[in-house]
Amino acid sequence: MAPAHLDILYRGPLSSCNYACPYCPFAKRRDSRETLARDAAQLARFVAWIEGQTARSLGILFTPWGEALIRPAYRAAMARLSRLPQVRRVAAQTNLSWPTGWLDECAPERIAFWCTFHPGETPLDRFLGRCAELDARGIGYSVGIVGKREHLPVLAELRRRLRPDVYLWVNAYRDEGPHHYRADDLALIRSIDPLFDVNRTGIRSRGLACATGESVISVDGDGEVRRCHTVKARIGNLYDPDFDAALTPRPCPLAQCRCHIGYAHMPHLGFREIFGAGLLERALPPSDAPPQGATG
Ligand code: SF4
Ligand code: SF4
Repeated sequence: MAPAHLDILYRGPLSSCNYACPYCPFAKRRDSRETLARDAAQLARFVAWIEGQTARSLGILFTPWGEALIRPAYRAAMARLSRLPQVRRVAAQTNLSWPTGWLDECAPERIAFWCTFHPGETPLDRFLGRCAELDARGIGYSVGIVGKREHLPVLAELRRRLRPDVYLWVNAYRDEGPHHYRADDLALIRSIDPLFDVNRTGIRSRGLACATGESVISVDGDGEVRRCHTVKARIGNLYDPDFDAALTPRPCPLAQCRCHIGYAHMPHLGFREIFGAGLLERALPPSDAPPQGATG
């Protein structure tokens, strides 16, 4: 039987980007025409599958390797999905670099964005202008930054200038080892993102409950289903008529879970309660006081 709620993390083959962030392997990468065509065809198949899923409530988060929303196919897919009654939420990770006119075709209460500001790739004013365009349409979003030490001044400015109730998260920068941050850096980051330490230390997850593989799945362009992006074992194929039989509770097999996309689904952290409807796009409810509950 189809589960009542299913969240899908979708990642097709697209791995190109218009930005050149020095901390990213997909910087200025280009996809061949063939890859883009295959990606668009697989996306269309995924959208068609969602259209047929009228017996359950679906959340969808597009988590591309690169930047998907510079591609019209992804904009059209999100607009279409946002208008389906069975879609609770359709969200995407994005650098917010695209023109926003297409959002007028979307159901604003069901579309949302996980927006990352990349210093050096775009001026802060332009990024904030795009946030204001989301605000004007009543579209939910979170904003975040890669927590390199050199980004901390702009992080503080971002906090001052963003709408106060928009959650500003910081992803720990790990490439320079555990001693990247000084005590005053940590104090600043924690004052802005009270959940930073969960991301910085990760969660010791082996053997613990995690909803992935049961009510949350990772799906690639071929429809191959894994429990999450990190655990590579295949559990089925979305387009197999019997695929629901693969959905079952499973403890985490890995030592550590280090990304919000994953640990957000570990019930003992309470993120589903803390983030509520904004869990997929990492957005806290607007009226919430800063979260204090979750610990690593
Ligand atoms: S915007 Fe994202 S995908 Fe593109 S280069 Fe920067 S980090 Fe990588
Ligand atoms: S805890 Fe993280 S790594 Fe483990 S199964 Fe869940 S999402 Fe995957």
